[in-house]
Amino acid sequence: MPPKPQFTREDGLYHSFCGLVSVGWLYQKIKDSFFLILGTHTCAHLLQNTLGVMIFAHPRFAVSLLEEADLSSSQPKIAHQIDEICAEYKPSVIFLLSSCTPEVMKVEFEGLAESLSRPDLPVLFVPASGLDYTFSQSEDSVLQALIPFCPIAEPDDKRVVFLGSVNDAIADDFSLEAARLGIPVAGFLPATRFNELPPIGPGTILAPLQPYLSKTATQLRNEREATVLSTLFPFGPDGTRAFWEDLAREFDMNVDLSEREAAAWERIKPHTDILKGKKVFFATDILMELPLARFLRSCGCEVLECSTPYINRRFHARELAQLEGVRLIEQANFDRQLQSITEEQPDLVVSNIITTNPLIGRGVVAKWGTEFAFMPIHGWSGVNTLVQMFTKALKRHAKLDQQGLDPIWTTGLMPSMPGQEDVIPLHQ
Ligand code: SF4
Repeated sequence: MPPKPQFTREDGLYHSFCGLVSVGWLYQKIKDSFFLILGTHTCAHLLQNTLGVMIFAHPRFAVSLLEEADLSSSQPKIAHQIDEICAEYKPSVIFLLSSCTPEVMKVEFEGLAESLSRPDLPVLFVPASGLDYTFSQSEDSVLQALIPFCPIAEPDDKRVVFLGSVNDAIADDFSLEAARLGIPVAGFLPATRFNELPPIGPGTILAPLQPYLSKTATQLRNEREATVLSTLFPFGPDGTRAFWEDLAREFDMNVDLSEREAAAWERIKPHTDILKGKKVFFATDILMELPLARFLRSCGCEVLECSTPYINRRFHARELAQLEGVRLIEQANFDRQLQSITEEQPDLVVSNIITTNPLIGRGVVAKWGTEFAFMPIHGWSGVNTLVQMFTKALKRHAKLDQQGLDPIWTTGLMPSMPGQEDVIPLHQ
């Protein structure tokens, strides 16, 4: 038996981005859907600020604002809002997303969703509150809600289902690559339309494209007896090669993509030259940290720490094996991380939306991790975008550096965080 991958759980209070934000990419992916969030003004402000640019695109999501009276009843009255949504958007499915306040007030979401469903229009409950979910994990909840609507495939229907939402260009790229290798494809979960969900059964090979979908993968393994491909996630030349070679093996084909991988590395050499030898510290919350850290290691970086909100030993097994020797932390404590950053002086910190700007303000080269969830970085066609996301941050800082920004380890100042004093001297 291979040794169990080692990681530490700090149970820290990490500053995480709310689960509702996944609506921003999911409503665009599932084109005949509507996302209705049962929330408060706080949730509305969050969506307005983070997804505000999309308002002009007539978005298929909305917040049903709860007032005190709604919260005192176990089921808020929102049937008229469902009528309005149907009349204006004609969706095939409505996702009803929970948020913190109604969850704390014990609103009975499942019963509410059931009572709002119609024969031709399912209303599906999606747990997504910021209390329990980081923003990428809510996609896992949405996909779980879709499982009962995936047709059951015949046992001899052996085809791949790609698991995870990627933009249409990347999805086309995966379909074309599968066709090129002779791998039969049943579809994507999620599909672009609700009535095009792929059939899933004992012959299905589930190929996860996103590292934050362990609940959906586990449920499909248990309930539909599907096989979950154990491989690297398709990020970077190394991950993409392993992904396709392992997938082909499931279909009794031996393919050698070493030349393809070498060509992809050659294409991004100007970037890997910049990254080689750089010390990188992951302090973000996107649940993509493991494959991103593995990719940077393959680029020649030294990964000082890779922390992530959640590690699933089985779903992430192959990535964990590649990160042997790296300090792996689940639910990191941010105060401890600040100390480590100060002592270890990384060249690049991948941090979250709340902590990036304060770090940059103190001269640390920090990259906003959330961006990785929105960018086309998968497969062979995503390699350039992926590597540039890291090198852009380094290049930008090199320019700013000439303007005299000193990092925290030379000024002895820590970034201010919400609820902390403005400036805290180090090593008190
Ligand atoms: Fe804030 Fe919770 Fe609403 Fe998210 S769901 S915006 S964390 S109140």
